[in-house]
Amino acid sequence: MSGNPLNSYIRKRAQSMGWSMVVMGGSFFLYYLGLFGNVQGPLAPGNLGESLAAMGVEKSHMLMFFLSFFIIALTWNHFFNLISFMIGSRRSCLKKNQGHSCGAVTQKIKAGNKQKNIRYRCVKGHTCSDARFNPVKKGVVSHTIWVVAMVFCAIILYCS
Ligand SMILES: [Zn+2]
Repeated sequence: MSGNPLNSYIRKRAQSMGWSMVVMGGSFFLYYLGLFGNVQGPLAPGNLGESLAAMGVEKSHMLMFFLSFFIIALTWNHFFNLISFMIGSRRSCLKKNQGHSCGAVTQKIKAGNKQKNIRYRCVKGHTCSDARFNPVKKGVVSHTIWVVAMVFCAIILYCS
């Protein structure tokens, strides 16, 4: 019974719990490598700084790297959404069908260059002058990546 709402609820909970375990596991891994400074490992801020200095990597270079990584990780979906919005992709049909929106994938069809002539046609054959835009939202993994990048920035700024 895959359509059972209780089953799908349990599956969703299990999935999010799975991701929590992955994040927790990753944190423990970094902890034992000494990233947070309380365990003497290869990633302990002091050791990390020394080995990087030996390699000729400057603190400011590291900071620039993680800062740009952080900014990209934080903003990529907004740029993607902006481009999708401009080229008319990621839109779903708004045609009412027995009280429900059709919701099918639409394609932008050109009818001249003017903005008011833009039409969207869905796979079921409806043609509308407007269609619902579906922006990309960050998932747990995407959020984790920018948080990790931010933590690295903070470590470089305050611990080395
Ligand atoms: Zn439709």
